Amino acid sequence: MSDLRVVRIPMRTRFRGLTVREAAFVRGPDGGWGEWSPFLEYDAREAAAWLGCAEEAARGGWPEPRRTRIPVNVTVPAVDGPQAHAIVAAAGCGTAKVKVAEPGQTLADDQARLEAVRDALGPGGRVRIDVNGGWDLDAALAAIPVLDRAAGGLEYVEQPCATVEELAAVRRAVDVPIAADESIRRAVDPYRVRDLAAADVAVLKVQPLGGVAACLRIAEDIGLPVVVSSALETSVGIAAGLALAAALPELPFACGLATVRLLADDVVAAPLLPVEGHLPVGRPDVDEAALDRLAAPAERVRHWQERLDAVRALADGGRP
Ligand SMILES: [Mg+2]
Repeated sequence: MSDLRVVRIPMRTRFRGLTVREAAFVRGPDGGWGEWSPFLEYDAREAAAWLGCAEEAARGGWPEPRRTRIPVNVTVPAVDGPQAHAIVAAAGCGTAKVKVAEPGQTLADDQARLEAVRDALGPGGRVRIDVNGGWDLDAALAAIPVLDRAAGGLEYVEQPCATVEELAAVRRAVDVPIAADESIRRAVDPYRVRDLAAADVAVLKVQPLGGVAACLRIAEDIGLPVVVSSALETSVGIAAGLALAAALPELPFACGLATVRLLADDVVAAPLLPVEGHLPVGRPDVDEAALDRLAAPAERVRHWQERLDAVRALADGGRP
């Protein structure tokens, strides 16, 4: 596969420390595109898994979908109650993921945000919190019951602490289900989460785990319900996540795939924005004019070509 194209897209708001998202695209034999957008600090070994996902997409090698649209959550950043209420009310999603434990804020701030979110969603909505590993064990055990009450019941707590061992300890001590996100970054990680009984839910991202088929295998092996989440992709990469969500035998939770609005532009004519809390399953058409409009400068294209060469050299070196 060749035809490497690289884009640079400004972020609407700073996220994961990024103000610009660079993404590369590879083209398959029938002209289909796959997104390859490992974060810039990732080395060739890690970027190789991401390329597996891109090449699978470019080949059109996704399994048969079991559903045509995927429920997605609205994400509520660490804003105040009124802002949180407005974000949830405008989104039209039945599930909200609320960021908590923001440095510089208090548990009372998190409580107020969750009360506002519950009010905006109504009693039928589902509320999950994402701690991004921000609590130690004691803080998690103190905060979870308080925030569970403020939210009128939490669907789950995502990554309350940084380590898998701590997740396991929190899970043993509280009744609210625990989801592992940052603890799952490479293909071996979900097995560790399972073996330590550290989570009730696995957050899987298709690029870092090597693609849709690889994630389906992992999901089957670990026997945990899966929430498919994005790695800050354009709509081309999001479509791969949707393909996984569509192919999973069970999908009990809304997915974290409504993220293209974090980017100020996209490489498809019809970006994957949620309608009534859902995203459509399918393969969006890449807009070649957008690839041109958003094209990265030549030195960045060279950088990505070198990354690609390094990943390919790794693959060749691994062959007998
Ligand atoms: Mg998370």
